[in-house]
Amino acid sequence: MNSTQQVQHLVDFPHADGSQGYAFTLLELLAIPAFVLDARGRAIVWNRACERLTGASGYEVLGTMDAWRCFHRDARPTLADLVIQQRTHEVAALYDTHARPCDEPGHLSAEGWCDMPRAGRRRYLAVDVSPICDGSGRLKAVVETLRDMTAEKQAQIALEKLATRDGLTGLANRRCFDDTLHAEWQRAMRQQQPLSLLMVDVDNFKQYNDVYGHVGGDDCLQRIAGAVAKEMRTNDLVARYGGEEFAVILPNQSLKGAAIVAERIRCRVEQLQLPNLGAAQQFVTVSIGAATALAAPECDPSQLLATADAALYRAKHMGRNRISLTRETEKILSQAYGM
Ligand code: GH3
Ligand code: MG
Ligand code: MG
Repeated sequence: MNSTQQVQHLVDFPHADGSQGYAFTLLELLAIPAFVLDARGRAIVWNRACERLTGASGYEVLGTMDAWRCFHRDARPTLADLVIQQRTHEVAALYDTHARPCDEPGHLSAEGWCDMPRAGRRRYLAVDVSPICDGSGRLKAVVETLRDMTAEKQAQIALEKLATRDGLTGLANRRCFDDTLHAEWQRAMRQQQPLSLLMVDVDNFKQYNDVYGHVGGDDCLQRIAGAVAKEMRTNDLVARYGGEEFAVILPNQSLKGAAIVAERIRCRVEQLQLPNLGAAQQFVTVSIGAATALAAPECDPSQLLATADAALYRAKHMGRNRISLTRETEKILSQAYGM
C-alpha cells in the first residue's frame, strides 16, 4: 500500500470520490511540509516534505495521535491540536510569535523553535493551520503547513547581536546601553524604585598600551570586561561605554548597594593581577564613579550619567584604584551608615 492509499484508508470523509483522491495526491507531493489531523487528532496526512523535514515517516505517524513527537521532546500539542482541542488561547505561551492571518475562524499562524528529536537538529518553524469543515460547519480535520525558517532566524539573531554587542568584549555596546538606560529610567519612574549607575574606567591605560602594545591592551580590556560581568545580577546590564570605559546599570539598587557592587568590581579587577609595569600601581586597576537617582518626570537619565561621571572624575582625582560617590552623597551615607 502506498502512502496515498494508506491515507485514504484512514480517512473517514463522507462522499469520498475521485477528486478527494486527487487532493490527497496533491498534498502528498506538495513541496511544502504539511500534515492533516482529523477531528479526533489522528494524523491522516503526513506528506513527503514533512517526512524530509521531521525525519519521521508516514508509516510511523499516520493513524496515531503522536504527530507532536516529531517536533518536541516533551509532551506538547501541535498548532493543529490546539485548534482541534479548542485551546488556541494557549498559542502565546507555546510559540515565539503568533497571528491570525485572516478573519475566518480557526486559521492561525505561529513561529517558534522545535526540538525535532527524530531529525536530530533544532529548527525554527513557521506554522500555519486551517480547519476543514463539512457542509454544516462541523470540524472534520485541520491541515498544518510548515516552513523551515531556521536560516532566516539565525541571520536575524546574528544581526541583533551585531547591533547590540561590542565586538571586542562581547558586552552590550553603547547603543544598547543608551536604550536600556532609557527603558530602566521609565521603569524606575513607574515602580518608584531607585536606579543606580556605575562608570568604570581603567587607570593609566594609555601607559599600559605603550608598554604592552595595542593587542596586549585589547586582551587586558577583554579580561576586565569578564571580571566586571561576573558581578552582575540577572537584571543588571554591563556595557562597554567607550574605549577603556565600562558602564553598569543597576535597576532597583540603592546608592549603598551600588557602592558595594562597585567595590566588589574594583577588588575583582585588582585580583586579576594583570601586571602594569608603566604605572605607579603594580597591577591594572579601575576607578569607579557611582550614582543613584529616584527617577522623576522633571529630570532625565543624562543627569544620572553626569553625576556618575563626576564621581568617577573625583575617584581619579583622589588617586585612582578607588570607588567614589559624589561628595554630597558620600557625606549622607557616612552619617547614615558609617560608610
Ligand atoms: P586615566 O587613569 O586618567 O583614565 O588614564 P588613561 O591613560 O586610562 O586615560 P586616557 O584617556 O589618557 O587613555 C585611554 C587610553 O585607552 C588611550 C587609548 O589608546 C586606549 N584605548 C581606548 N580604546 C582602546 C581599545 O579598544 N584597545 C586598546 N588597546 N586601547 C584602547
Ligand atoms: Mg582610563
Ligand atoms: Mg577613559
